[in-house]
Order: sequence, then structure tokens, then C-alpha cells
Amino acid sequence: MRILVVEDEPQLNLRIEQALEGAGFVVDVAFDGEEGLFLGETEPYDAVVLDLGLPRLDGVSVLHRWREQNRTMPVLVLTARGRWAEKAQAFDAGADDYLTKPFEMDEVIYRLRALIRRVSGHSSPEITCGPVRIDTSQGRVWVDGTAVTLTAQEYRILSYLAHHRGRVVGRSELVEHVYDRDDDRDSNVIDVLMGRIRKKLKADIITTLRGQGWRLEAGGNAP
Ligand code: CA
Repeated sequence: MRILVVEDEPQLNLRIEQALEGAGFVVDVAFDGEEGLFLGETEPYDAVVLDLGLPRLDGVSVLHRWREQNRTMPVLVLTARGRWAEKAQAFDAGADDYLTKPFEMDEVIYRLRALIRRVSGHSSPEITCGPVRIDTSQGRVWVDGTAVTLTAQEYRILSYLAHHRGRVVGRSELVEHVYDRDDDRDSNVIDVLMGRIRKKLKADIITTLRGQGWRLEAGGNAP
């Protein structure tokens, strides 16, 4: 899952980025409203952390513009304490959730995971597919009750497919959601990783559709 963080305080921006990367997300960062607006308009994100008090263009305006352009990714806004009017404006502009500064880094992670899950139609943090169980809040995977160790990138791929299971996910879409802007995007690596994931899961739940992409089969529990 790929996240955009728009926050002008360098230290806070860095702390959020590190916390999210530590939680397995890939992260792009912006330090002012214009840069954030541009990235949100041009790159596909699974969710955005958006500070409201930003130089060059305020967060509420950024959010307005995204929603006008039908950019529907979930947005978690960061507000300063006691800025009620600002918070209300943000919701009117299309915010999905908010956090008041200062906040616990873990809370950002939990809220983002919940937002991403909701958007993909899953109300439970656990996604089951045949013998495979994926706990999206812990980032853990089991096959027939036995824990399976995936690398961070293998997990990102499986998690993305699981959030969009039953639907064909194309190669370029997958690449865009499991790498950040600065990564070297060799899409052939995806095939290698997919092979490793299949081997580790030992279950045939990922279908390859030649020339189209991959689909995680929609078995198991209802979303
Ligand atoms: Ca700020």
C-alpha cells in the first residue's frame, strides 16, 4: 500500500514517514500544499496523511481540488488542537478521518489501515482466502493455521491483491502501489516475487491472467 504524507514540519514529516515505512507501507512525502496537490493528482495512493496548516496552499484547498477531480483516496487530516472550524471545513471538503496534534504514531498507522480496509470493502482486519489468512492490522499471514514469513515486498503484493481480491490487478497498477516514487521499478521483479509468494503459500489462490495481471481468488470469508 502506498501512502502520501503532506506535512511541512520536517521532523514530523520524517517521523510519520519512518513509522509508516516501519509498518510496511511505501511512502512519498511532500512539504507544502502545492507539491502535495500535484502528487495527489498524478500518483495513485491508497491513502493520504494531510496536514491542514501548509505553506503555499492550505490543506482544505488541496483536499477540495482532489475531490473536484474525483480523486477518491481516503484522506486522514492532521489538525492543530482547538481548530474546530478547520476540522469541519476539512470534513466538508471530503476528509475521511482526522487526528489532532500531538498524536501517537501508532494511531496514524491504525487509522490508515482501517481507512484502506473500508475503502476496499473489508470491515474486518482479517482477510481469508481458502487456507490463507491475512491479518492486515498486524501484517501477518497464515496458511492452514501456520504462520508464513513473507518479506516486506512480498507482503505488500499479497496485501494489495487481497484488498482487491476477485478483481484482476494489472502489472502497472501493482507496481504503482508497492513501490514509491524513488524506487527502481523493475516490473519483471514482480514475477519473481509472485513466484516466491506462491511457493510460500503452497496454495493456488493467485491466478495469472496472461497479458492482464493477477487475481487473488475470492474464496473464504465474505468481505
Ligand atoms: Ca503545518
